[in-house]
Amino acid sequence: MVTDLLDIDHVRLRDRPLVVCDIDEVVLEFISPFTTFLRANNYDLLPRSFRLHGNIVSLLDGTEPDDTVISDFQESFFTTQDQWQIPASGAVETLAALSDDVDIVFLTAMPPRHQPVRRALLDRFELGFPMIATVQPKGPVVAQLHGARALPVIFIDDIARNLHSVREYVPECLLITMMANADFRAFAPAPSEGVLSAASWNEAAELIRAHVRR
Ligand SMILES: [Mg+2]
Repeated sequence: MVTDLLDIDHVRLRDRPLVVCDIDEVVLEFISPFTTFLRANNYDLLPRSFRLHGNIVSLLDGTEPDDTVISDFQESFFTTQDQWQIPASGAVETLAALSDDVDIVFLTAMPPRHQPVRRALLDRFELGFPMIATVQPKGPVVAQLHGARALPVIFIDDIARNLHSVREYVPECLLITMMANADFRAFAPAPSEGVLSAASWNEAAELIRAHVRR
């Protein structure tokens, strides 16, 4: 059961709206720093479609690495993420302003073993909001957080699978899709019905404030 596996006791919600927010490509840049990381390892990430696999190529001979190599790169990147990742444009100031009126919780689809380095990285950028790191589907986690509260709840993510998971488990949740990297955003599938799209943190804040005011 999700409740038994996830440590969310450190998340204390107040009696006000809740914004659950993905991290990679939403709060922190991922694609751009991961590309820089790959280039330092003689590989590149080409914006040819909305995926990593198939778009990573060797700078030495143009070949595509196999899945094991890509997994090793991802593991190595997350292990040293504090040397590479920076906040997405507008994230720090927008979240700080929103946090006057709403609770903010980070929900990142990252193996929990990388949580300490990510926590330190977020804190360095004054993104001190509580974080849950899990590779489980996000819908049950948001449901566990929000429960049956009669308060607005908002979820922001760049991946349709995560947005749809939350829609399934928390139907009343406002869903916003947002992606920092413009090159890959151009290949993102059109958001499905009921999912709003924000091109920037300014736009996301407007959608959130309009929803909270209702
Ligand atoms: Mg993401």
